[in-house]
Amino acid sequence: MGSDRRTELADNLAAVRGRIADAARAAGRAPSELTLVAITKGHPASDVALLAELGVSEVGESRDQEAAPKRADVQGELCWHMVGRLQTNKARSVAHWADVVESVDRLALVHALDAEAQRIERRLAVGVQVSLDGDPDRGGVLERDLPALAEAVVAAGALDLLGLMAVAPLGADPAAAFARLRAIREPFLAAHPEATMLSAGMSADLEAAVSAGATHVRIGTALLGTAFH
Ligand SMILES: *Cc1c(COP(=O)(O)O)cnc(C)c1O
Repeated sequence: MGSDRRTELADNLAAVRGRIADAARAAGRAPSELTLVAITKGHPASDVALLAELGVSEVGESRDQEAAPKRADVQGELCWHMVGRLQTNKARSVAHWADVVESVDRLALVHALDAEAQRIERRLAVGVQVSLDGDPDRGGVLERDLPALAEAVVAAGALDLLGLMAVAPLGADPAAAFARLRAIREPFLAAHPEATMLSAGMSADLEAAVSAGATHVRIGTALLGTAFH
């Protein structure tokens, strides 16, 4: 069973890496510009360990309750990303297990993450999640509120601004959504030239994201199959 799963994950990983490389070349980019973040939500710690053995170095989770114990179960030097909607009262816990919090979309989260990171003397890397459908209820800061939120991250004592993250709206054309993201990113990068992360693209739309300049793709299903919940 363990070795079957290893083979399955190795095959999926090779296929995903192939898609990323093809998408990069089609966009005139070097495959080395792309970082794969394996989204392991809904899959056990044993899968995370197998992916790490297979050379994956970045993993992502979307729920604090699931990720905190999983991280404790996995040895090694993985970089753990939080990519899901984050309640303010979970920020304190997330500051302990996450290395990168990609889904920061409001000031209350900046303050809560920073306060806890300072208290436990850790630095946290932060991505600001941008709304591509203008509906803040679905996560992500509105374009007009992005500059102030980014400034708040920069001003926070224990946070490092890494860049932007977005999810293409359900049912929308991903190419159009990511074109909008690219346009939003332009003035952001002018103000924060070091914050080069652009986390966009999932199993179904990674090609469109790479073509729009993504530096990080977040791949769950294509790597791990359907989650157990
Ligand atoms: C689950 C999830 C992913 C991965 O999606 P797949 O379609 O399974 O590749 C990426 N980003 C976020 C924010 C997610 O919640």
